[in-house]
Amino acid sequence: MAAEIRLFTCLSDNFGYLIHDPATKATASIDAPEAAPIIQALGREGWTLTDILITHHHGDHVGGVAELKQKYNCRVVAPHDKSAKIGNVDLRVSHGDVIKVGNLLARVLETPGHTLDHVSYVFDGEKAVFAADTLFSIGCGRVFEGTHPMMWDSLLKLRALPDDFRLYCGHEYTAANVRFALTVEPDNAALKARAAEVTRLRADNKPTIPTLLGEEKKANVFLRADEPAVAASLHMKGAGAAEVFGELRERKNKS
Ligand SMILES: [Zn+2]
Repeated sequence: MAAEIRLFTCLSDNFGYLIHDPATKATASIDAPEAAPIIQALGREGWTLTDILITHHHGDHVGGVAELKQKYNCRVVAPHDKSAKIGNVDLRVSHGDVIKVGNLLARVLETPGHTLDHVSYVFDGEKAVFAADTLFSIGCGRVFEGTHPMMWDSLLKLRALPDDFRLYCGHEYTAANVRFALTVEPDNAALKARAAEVTRLRADNKPTIPTLLGEEKKANVFLRADEPAVAASLHMKGAGAAEVFGELRERKNKS
């Protein structure tokens, strides 16, 4: 039986995610921005929380952990502490670790840059990657704790995943990301198609997530910092990809 994934809104613009294994009834929450919407989503499905997979230490990703752990006595999986303490953790994971949610397997990718502890969870069997605040649709996370080369390297790890994998990210930021990306690549056909799709989805108050990695590779300017056309658009012909990425990130910060 295939895994079931549910997506819902938490806080103002965070996504909550549940991934459920029908065979074992195990259910994981990817991050826990706040407890109430996660408890409601579990209740709608009749599922019980067995695991929380934390991507990084920011409050809008761990705020609900203590309450959920107390209510469900679930296992809390989190990256090793590098920058700050995440509480209530049962299992610390590093790059390459594989964890089980029932019979589902999640592979840990260390994707630092936004924070030093940031990890992404790849469910190869489900063709799904939960990249939180590293990779957004048509955008990427702000580089708070790491460096631009570090973040670019993390994006390359995600870009290396197959085109038919679905990206589940931490926030609904796609519309603003599209507006910025069009300033750099106004003639990118894949980006223009995504822009139209995002306008349609948001007008219907629907999420823009998940999205296919193959589409992101074509349309997300932050995954395209090594494209000569992107460097040329920034008047950075011949510059290294990490440097071009850094310029993109700086411009987005100011946009
Ligand atoms: Zn964050």
